[in-house]
Amino acid sequence: PAHEEPADATLLARRAASFASVQGHYYDQPPRIERGWRHHLVSDQGRAYLDIVNNVSAIGHAHPAVERAVTRQLRRLNTNSRFHYASVVDFSERLAALLPAPLDTVFLVNSGSEAVDLGIRLAVGATGRPDVVALREAYHGWTYASDAVSTSLQDNPNALATRPVWVHTVDSPNSYRGRHRGAEAHRYAPEAVRAVDELAAAGRAPGAFVAESYYGNAGGVALPDGYLEQLYAAVRRHGGLAVADEVQVGYGRLGHWFWGFEQQGVVPDIVCVAKAMGNGHPLGAVITSKGVADRYRDQGYFFSSTGGSPVSSVVGSTVLDVLRDEDLQGNAVRVGARLKAGLAALGEHHPLVGAVHGSGLYLGLELVRDRTTLEPATEETAELCERMLGLGVVVQPTGDHLNVLKIKPPLCIDAEATDFFTATLDRALRELGH
Ligand code: PMP
Repeated sequence: PAHEEPADATLLARRAASFASVQGHYYDQPPRIERGWRHHLVSDQGRAYLDIVNNVSAIGHAHPAVERAVTRQLRRLNTNSRFHYASVVDFSERLAALLPAPLDTVFLVNSGSEAVDLGIRLAVGATGRPDVVALREAYHGWTYASDAVSTSLQDNPNALATRPVWVHTVDSPNSYRGRHRGAEAHRYAPEAVRAVDELAAAGRAPGAFVAESYYGNAGGVALPDGYLEQLYAAVRRHGGLAVADEVQVGYGRLGHWFWGFEQQGVVPDIVCVAKAMGNGHPLGAVITSKGVADRYRDQGYFFSSTGGSPVSSVVGSTVLDVLRDEDLQGNAVRVGARLKAGLAALGEHHPLVGAVHGSGLYLGLELVRDRTTLEPATEETAELCERMLGLGVVVQPTGDHLNVLKIKPPLCIDAEATDFFTATLDRALRELGH
């Protein structure tokens, strides 16, 4: 067997019976996870796994500060967000304070999909323009509008053929394996700008340009320098707005930058956040300017029963407290640098290692069969993930070719754990003959 623990076949069969086939799970024979603690997951058989994929549990699994705050708040009050209570105001102020001017107006929702959906609706509402430009190989969510701008083939092989007419995609600006590589990557921005200009010339100037501000879904590849600056300028020149999806890459994970857009030196008009901000509790947000938010007033409606509920708001504030008190962004800088160097060193012995992308604790280890042709090592990556599970590490692939290990552990991970991860990868690559 790939790993020692047999899957709980009865529970898996019951899951399959009540779920649709589109609702996948990690691994064919997944361990049954009963507990989490910091950057570890523990199975029902008491086996501990190192969790390398859980960017949702940013401050770590089962953080006692969250448990205490939620318990206290649940005992007192949890209700819909139309009531007047302090925690929602406190949290919204703190969130807005993390963003540069003029981003001062906060909408609290329950997920990243809702945040991107609302971000698009705000932009379309404020501009009166229904067309939207998005990047290929992106994932932004499952709701109607967020799914419409999601073109990642790993999630939906028919994505490009099934977009609504108001969605226009531009090339995936991947400087490693895209059409323009290395120093040539500066070509993506002018090409995408031309596409925006052509839409405007055809009378379909976009209301929004939507992109992750650090290219997460494609494997943690930084956008080419100046990419967002040129795209934001183009879309604004024609009266549209810039929407940044910070659901994966924001909130300190990149280490040096709290937000991905800072790496690009831009300020978006609309920022969408989720995942890390709730540490697994359903919580997302859209932050924009008062001007954009107010123009939505006569275009659409917004009320979320549980978005920003007393419990959600307390979770949001507690996560921010922990990020600050435990200096987790600093940890992402320090531990992330050590991890990235260790992964790069693996490339000296293992020809399968093509590149190490990313920043802080948002890294992507891209595996290729040939460093010149960059032929993706898709099967080898799947095999490696299985073997890593057997060795006690949960790690998963991403990207359109599923050949990039996504490395985005809880931000509390320490050097001992990342050294174990690197050594275990080394062992698994050797065992598999790569
Ligand atoms: N945007 C990005 C970049 C994401 O990675 C995801 C989730 N994988 C979403 C949006 C959607 O978030 P959620 O799953 O919370 O709806």
